[in-house]
Amino acid sequence: MNDEIKTIHEFDFSLICEYFSMLERQGPGSREMTLRALSFVGSLTDDSRIADIGCGTGGQTMVLAQNAPGRITGVDLFPDFIKIFNRNAEQLGLSDRVKGATGDMTALTFDNESLDLIWSEGAIYNIGFERGLTEWWRFLKPGGYIAVSEASWFTPERPEEIEAFWNSEYPFIDTVPNQVAILQDCGYVPVAAFMLPPGCWSDEYYQPQAEAQLRFLQKHSGNKVAEDFIANMRHEAELFSRFGEYYGYTFFIGRKR
Ligand code: SAH
Repeated sequence: MNDEIKTIHEFDFSLICEYFSMLERQGPGSREMTLRALSFVGSLTDDSRIADIGCGTGGQTMVLAQNAPGRITGVDLFPDFIKIFNRNAEQLGLSDRVKGATGDMTALTFDNESLDLIWSEGAIYNIGFERGLTEWWRFLKPGGYIAVSEASWFTPERPEEIEAFWNSEYPFIDTVPNQVAILQDCGYVPVAAFMLPPGCWSDEYYQPQAEAQLRFLQKHSGNKVAEDFIANMRHEAELFSRFGEYYGYTFFIGRKR
């Protein structure tokens, strides 16, 4: 990569990080759905070891920590998110058992069979559903749980416009039955799969962004990269409002065989 391109990319990343740092959640989800997913996870104890992969600033991690015992390690690629994560843990009095660390989900360094639970909301797409389920398997103790949310098609067919959008953004999107089969083939018992209600996108994800976008555009007024980025985010939200019945997130909970 030449230096000029690298600089542009680094600049993009810092803008994107700044934008998402303004939000409590960096992906669709909600407190209620985090707790629903947790309800399918077998008993955890104070000795349980939990990892939250692609934790962002830790919106869902703090909900987990307040509702489950054990020690949680949050892992995210972006140091700025981890800084906010650790500050949040501190403010909530959780920092003795909740710690964020910078790391890459494609090169995790947990010991084999060291984890009781792997959590990942709206993030496994960065490695790919099947690859993530396969590569993370070895970190779980036998009988350990994995709980991940992932983009799914909710119907066997859909309009071409939305199909084309997803195929260019994330071609691994699939139907829920296919994804459950992948979960099983990767060595897990499929314990549960449930759809996130559309409010997890509209109310919890896109709506807080609308206000953040105004502040962000004001701050970066005249910056073409920032303006393009916001235009993309708005386009995504608009697609969801038109085609949200065809796709969304599914929460998958599996137990290591
Ligand atoms: N789980 C959070 C964040 C979801 S957004 C929530 O639901 O709010 C996806 C997250 O994955 C971002 O925080 C992003 O920084 C992180 N990410 C992207 N690529 C990654 C990688 N290779 N390794 C670890 N984290 C990554």
